[in-house]
Amino acid sequence: MLPETVARQIIADHQRRPRHTGPLDGVPGVTVDNPGCGDQVTVWADVQAGRVARVQFSGKGCAISQSSASLMTVALTGKSVEEARALAEQFQAMVMGETEPDPQLGELQALSGVSRLHARRKCALLPWQALEQTLG
Ligand code: ZN
Repeated sequence: MLPETVARQIIADHQRRPRHTGPLDGVPGVTVDNPGCGDQVTVWADVQAGRVARVQFSGKGCAISQSSASLMTVALTGKSVEEARALAEQFQAMVMGETEPDPQLGELQALSGVSRLHARRKCALLPWQALEQTLG
């Protein structure tokens, strides 16, 4: 588990300087909404030979949804589709408060505190829903 101050810094940093933004040429994007909070995220994943070669996003909304999307793109780039799915499951279990943060989640552990904020869980999971649809 990351210290609270470190977690907050990671979230703020990814909100201010989102990584891997913008559409990918030739890759269909998947857009998902969270009307309860006003979040929207579009995810583009370029899967080559069973591997997430590139993944990018664009979106608007709260710090949790946008930092989750940015952290997701960093975590998944270069992973196999299987690894990506496993990571998505671990992340979801953490956000739902079912498991303690797994060190394998790296900086994604910064969002573990969301498990205590029931209304914000959807924010954190939003980009991952888009990813799931992208991977099919
Ligand atoms: Zn939100």
